[in-house]
Amino acid sequence: MQFNPYGGVAAQLAATVVNAGPDATSETFEDIIKAYDYRPACRVNAEEARELVRWAARLRPVFHEPVLEERVRLLNELLAIVAARPYITQHDGRPPHFHYAASDAPIVHRIKAYTTGGLAHALCEDPRRIGACGRAGCDLVFVDTSRNGRRRFCSTQCANRAHVADHRRRQKERG
Ligand SMILES: [Zn+2]
Ligand SMILES: [Zn+2]
Repeated sequence: MQFNPYGGVAAQLAATVVNAGPDATSETFEDIIKAYDYRPACRVNAEEARELVRWAARLRPVFHEPVLEERVRLLNELLAIVAARPYITQHDGRPPHFHYAASDAPIVHRIKAYTTGGLAHALCEDPRRIGACGRAGCDLVFVDTSRNGRRRFCSTQCANRAHVADHRRRQKERG
């Protein structure tokens, strides 16, 4: 059951934007926006892409920060940046939901508001579900939507590689 898109798809979008990395281009973000069905035919110019990369760098610490109070503080900082008057809307046949940015605001601002709203909702629902991959050398982040909410890695590949590395280390220790 999905009560609102923020703790779900908007938080996932935040993780995807962070994972796009420092070299993400206009095309990267246009593809992401399309994949999330956010504004399907939206254009992102080079300047906007750079701004989104900078925004991703501000979202990233929220995923990595282990101390909840600090996470809350980071998110409140972001909320203060994107602050706008929230309102409820219905569009494209979707159920009523909050918008945290005016629909005529520039795309970068809307994505900032949407990803921050997403992380804020996800954090309030269950702070343990926002995380970063536990494998050394992988810097991907995730929002854990699994039933038990105990995800520690970005993917099955990383989980397997971390287990193999663990196993080898233990064998070595045993000599
Ligand atoms: Zn909407
Ligand atoms: Zn990983």
